Amino acid sequence: LSQAKASGRQVLRFFNPHMQAQLLARVRLEADLRQAVIFKQWELHYQPQVDAHGELTGVEALLRWHHAEHGLVSPDEFIPLLESSGLITEVGEWILEQACHQLLAWSTHPRLGRLTISVNISPVQFREAGFVERVESVFARVQAPLTKLKLEVTESLFVEAPENVRETMLRLKRRGVRFSLDDFGTGYSSLAYLAKLPLDQLKIDQSFVQQVLTSDANAAIVESTIALAESLSLEVIAEGVEMRAQYEWLRAHGCLAYQGYLFGRPVPVALFEEQVLT
Ligand code: C2E
Ligand code: CA
Ligand code: CA
Ligand code: CA
Repeated sequence: LSQAKASGRQVLRFFNPHMQAQLLARVRLEADLRQAVIFKQWELHYQPQVDAHGELTGVEALLRWHHAEHGLVSPDEFIPLLESSGLITEVGEWILEQACHQLLAWSTHPRLGRLTISVNISPVQFREAGFVERVESVFARVQAPLTKLKLEVTESLFVEAPENVRETMLRLKRRGVRFSLDDFGTGYSSLAYLAKLPLDQLKIDQSFVQQVLTSDANAAIVESTIALAESLSLEVIAEGVEMRAQYEWLRAHGCLAYQGYLFGRPVPVALFEEQVLT
């Protein structure tokens, strides 16, 4: 008996109440996510992107989850769960369709009609069999101006089967879609893929941008990225620009597109339109 007790205690020590609570929270969150998928408790928020004149050129669409108890839940908390549970396929299609509806709705407007929308594509979603077909079916349902659509992908996508990835990208590019490489410089892949893949834009990760004034090493990385983009004829955009001095540094170093709290936070579409038009 005492031995059983001892091992019981050991089990408890190994799987402690804190871990149990964490696991429970995760299981709950996943159950809630399934509800969210059914009841579409999602909303896209839009964050402005501007050029060197401070002129609005586009937006990035960022997913928000309205949780009944927890309120707005951050995508960093639930995107990984959507990926591991396979729900990302369905949610990803919903996101793309929403963005296409938005492009279509804006298309006849003199000011909003010029804007591009950047949509984040999870590597899991991209590699899913039938990804192109799903995307094409969205394009067939919603006749959006596809030259205004940018898809943001990350380096991790290129680690496996770059040939398939390239083909998928080319197929979508024939429809006018452009590709942006998100979080550039934070992955562990080599730069070789840059020569092989039909990218249009590099997005300098905010971790570098936020340190340009305080770290010489980060400043050097940003400068090199801008030079690299230029020599590969890629557009470059800096994300996470929070301070005017960071913006000025970037502009002085040849970066011509920016996104960050300095220019605007991600907001619901109604608020975004109000900010742009008034
Ligand atoms: P990301 O694609 O790198 O998006 C940029 C994140 O930085 C966003 O966080 C945005 O709100 C935040 N941000 C923008 N400007 C600034 C700034 O000046 N300072 C700081 N500190 N942060 C800034 P968010 O919306 O919480 O999204 C986090 C991540 O979740 C995204 O990182 C992306 O990886 C993922 N995500 C968001 N929406 C989607 C989506 O629709 N689909 C997919 N697959 N992933 C998404
Ligand atoms: Ca992004
Ligand atoms: Ca990013
Ligand atoms: Ca990120």
